[in-house]
Amino acid sequence: MNITNISEHHICTACGACALVCPKDAVTLEETPAGFLTARVSDACVDCGLCRKVCPSVAENTTKYAPEDLLHGPFLSAFTGWATDETLRQTGQSGGLVTALLCHILDTNQADGALVAGFAPASRRSEARIVHTREDLLAAAGSCYTQCPMLPALKDGERLAAVVLGCQSEALTLLKDLRPDLVPEFTIGLICAGQNSGHMIDDICAEAGADRPEAFRFRDKTVSGWPGEITLRQSGETRTLPNAYRHSIKPVYECHRCLACFDQMNVNADLVCGDPWGLEGRYGPEGCTAVLVRTERGKALLQTALAAGVIQLEALSPEDLFLGQTVDTRHSDKVYTAKTVFQSEGWLYPYDPEVIGDRPYTSKIMEKNRKTLLYTRKYAQSPTPEAAAQTAQKKKDSRLPLGTRLKKLFK
Ligand SMILES: Cc1cc2nc3c(=O)[nH]c(=O)nc-3n(C[C@H](O)[C@H](O)[C@H](O)COP(=O)(O)OP(=O)(O)OC[C@H]3O[C@@H](n4cnc5c(N)ncnc54)[C@H](O)[C@@H]3O)c2cc1C
Ligand code: SF4
Ligand code: SF4
Ligand code: SF4
Repeated sequence: MNITNISEHHICTACGACALVCPKDAVTLEETPAGFLTARVSDACVDCGLCRKVCPSVAENTTKYAPEDLLHGPFLSAFTGWATDETLRQTGQSGGLVTALLCHILDTNQADGALVAGFAPASRRSEARIVHTREDLLAAAGSCYTQCPMLPALKDGERLAAVVLGCQSEALTLLKDLRPDLVPEFTIGLICAGQNSGHMIDDICAEAGADRPEAFRFRDKTVSGWPGEITLRQSGETRTLPNAYRHSIKPVYECHRCLACFDQMNVNADLVCGDPWGLEGRYGPEGCTAVLVRTERGKALLQTALAAGVIQLEALSPEDLFLGQTVDTRHSDKVYTAKTVFQSEGWLYPYDPEVIGDRPYTSKIMEKNRKTLLYTRKYAQSPTPEAAAQTAQKKKDSRLPLGTRLKKLFK
């Protein structure tokens, strides 16, 4: 059996682990009419089942921590931190800490290269890259909020440090048993509240009047400081849209599978980095990165980078980090209402329900989350790009203030 049913049921995270391990190169990640990437299997498949062994959406592969620990995962300590190099800090998404750590890993020969993500002008989408220089690390700094299959890039088997989202870390953990030679030396995880359809980029390009941008940043701190604004560069001219625009269209393009995801806090990574949400007093316009240390390897990396003077750190209570990321409130409500809705609707659930466990939630939150899930499923199932555009437009219209909606109606 292969992973076809994962794609058919709209629970593919586009991590790309299946494509990485397939001995017949039978798996490709293809864009659906709604702009999501999903794994497709060709006739070359010999039904060996390897792809299912590494897939984070196959229920029996669910990371096994006790339910009360699943949303937090194991951890040793937490910090806020930033790159001491001003260029790295300014170019980075939060405090540039991830890029500073990657530079340090390469400078000290702890890995030969880094797996990162960046904007590809030719496809107008996010792409995975293996890079070897500070210059290329800087070019890939910042966050790609549209789907970006990272793991197929691991094929060359180099000694790497990898930046990965939770579902990708889960797949790497599964890969350890199967192909340890492909597992990176370090996994620097990002906190992740979800990815979006590639159509989000198309929407932003249309809004900015830039159809072929040479550069694209979802959040560019150089414009107005942290958290930053959207910037696009086309024909040498930089156009800016407010970060609020991305927030306003996020519900239109969010990934259905991400709404069921337990792994916002990337429980399998060595280190987990995120924005300093909810940590008032910890950041100014220059930004800082919130870091959770999970493993001894992650701790040693942070210590050597600190000793080398490439990062600065301030101690933080892990509880404050979880509080700021609303792990036990908004995120927990999302996870447990999704479990209920997936099961009541008869949708294939990506996790082992026993491992996820149960939590109480209020019917009001449940109802709001259920509507969101129904919308994202409908959008994900769009049979044609035109149908997807129509569904997206309807959703966008429904989010306009009532006065604007009425004006539009009677125009
Ligand atoms: C899809 C997504 C959702 C996120 N959601 C949250 C959230 O809910 N809360 C929160 O606090 N933080 C979230 N983050 C993390 C946050 O945006 C920053 O990436 C993080 O704080 C690190 O900042 P930095 O300045 O240290 O990183 P930087 O120095 O800017 O380095 C970031 C590194 O991440 C790599 N990268 C970018 N996009 C991706 C991607 N899609 N997959 C893998 N690698 C990538 C870049 O290539 C770069 O190497 C999210 C990030 C992503 C990509
Ligand atoms: S079952 Fe085997 S051959 Fe078929 S897609 Fe999966 S890994 Fe490839
Ligand atoms: S979630 Fe990852 S491993 Fe599973 S089908 Fe999708 S791309 Fe393949
Ligand atoms: S929300 Fe979960 S499934 Fe979605 S991209 Fe993030 S880690 Fe992966």
